[in-house]
Amino acid sequence: DIALKRAQEYKKYNPFITITENLARKQSNLSQERHEKDKPISELDGIPIAIKDNFCTKEVVTTCASKMLENFIPTYNATVVERLEQNGTVLIGKSNLDQFAMGSGTVDSIFGPSKNIWGYQDDDNFHITGGSSGGSSIAVATGICYGAIGSDTGGSTRNPASYCGIVGLKPTYGLVSRYGLIPLVNSMDVPGILTRTVDDCVSILNGIAGYDQNDSTSISKPYKKIRLPPAQKMTLKDLKIGIPKEYYNEHLSQAVYDTWNEVANILQSSGAVIKEVSMPNTEHSIVCYSILNQCEVASNMSRYDGVEYGYRAEENSSTDKLYATSRSEGFNEVVRNRILTGNFFLLTRNYEKYFNKALKVRRMIADDFHKVWEEVQLLLTPTTLTTAPLYKDFVQKTNRDQCALQDYCTQPANMAGVPAISIPIKLSPEGLPISLQLMGRNLSEPMLLAVAKYIE
Ligand code: GLN
Repeated sequence: DIALKRAQEYKKYNPFITITENLARKQSNLSQERHEKDKPISELDGIPIAIKDNFCTKEVVTTCASKMLENFIPTYNATVVERLEQNGTVLIGKSNLDQFAMGSGTVDSIFGPSKNIWGYQDDDNFHITGGSSGGSSIAVATGICYGAIGSDTGGSTRNPASYCGIVGLKPTYGLVSRYGLIPLVNSMDVPGILTRTVDDCVSILNGIAGYDQNDSTSISKPYKKIRLPPAQKMTLKDLKIGIPKEYYNEHLSQAVYDTWNEVANILQSSGAVIKEVSMPNTEHSIVCYSILNQCEVASNMSRYDGVEYGYRAEENSSTDKLYATSRSEGFNEVVRNRILTGNFFLLTRNYEKYFNKALKVRRMIADDFHKVWEEVQLLLTPTTLTTAPLYKDFVQKTNRDQCALQDYCTQPANMAGVPAISIPIKLSPEGLPISLQLMGRNLSEPMLLAVAKYIE
């Protein structure tokens, strides 16, 4: 009841596309009965959560914030949704995003932008939530939900976590099933977790991680539940943390830079060894991602033809016209642009020059990570270069320019598949959250989360 009431109260921040009131009441009643009998299913039993609207939810409309899927009602649950339900969570709503998760602001949704609670003045003067999982982030930051699921292909969980002042985890690629997550870039997509604290994040990860036969890229090694030691009992002695110098970007704000230094110093005085390292291919990550993204988008979006799925235009003078009109009316400009560019890159004459080359650069970026793990166990970087931009400034830029700035620090982790977490550190002088990112080698979540908890 409280969560549903808050969902109404905080409507102006636009966290949800759909509030699942009936389902929430049903799940909550069942949970209450279990609690009365002293038999909760798990530590998540009865917990209010939000799911980004690009995860399929059985009998609940799943729109991807696009006209194309405005009326799409899946017949099955995504694995993360299914597992959360089995743990007794209560779904409050499907949260807002950039259309098909393409963006980093949650400004390109047919349901309007999400708005950050931090620094909000009125509907003309507000900061972006970041994105594309901005609805999920603000559902947690406002206190409506205890946790939320986002997706992360280039930073979409960590970026809004950073701007909304909450914890955002992108797990190792394959640790959490992608089944039922509507794809953006299959080889980089991972479900992400948004919570107020690192401990909450661990509880949700423990509920959703582990092998799933419905996802061919799911890691088959059995998942061992993580139990974090209390922060006071932890020692950072002998832990080597790298500061990759290429993450120092000309657009990095002074406040974020200072925070990065302060935290590095604190970690050092707590016994960790802080070491400057080099990851020379970092700067190519954005361009490389943009090629791979658009190629995969061109292929993934071909299923929306107006016949089998989703929006169908009135135009029916020929099949070709029906396809074309449905797609041009159903997708926004960002999606259409990426499809066009992707198809250009995939033309036989361009394939070698763009797509194949981008795959090679991706391998070089991943190799930077492999090499750096010979020197250090974790990397500490900013999550975002600045605090949350004002909506009106942000939308002056094209989607491509937005992504280039927003994803600078988050994108490389997706190229390499490694886990990364955004941790809120403090408020800037203007009262906006500043966050930092920790990255670790594949499947190092237990250590990554423990150190995140220490920093938090
Ligand atoms: N900003 C990037 C994009 O638009 C990443 C989005 C994401 O991680 N889903 O593609």
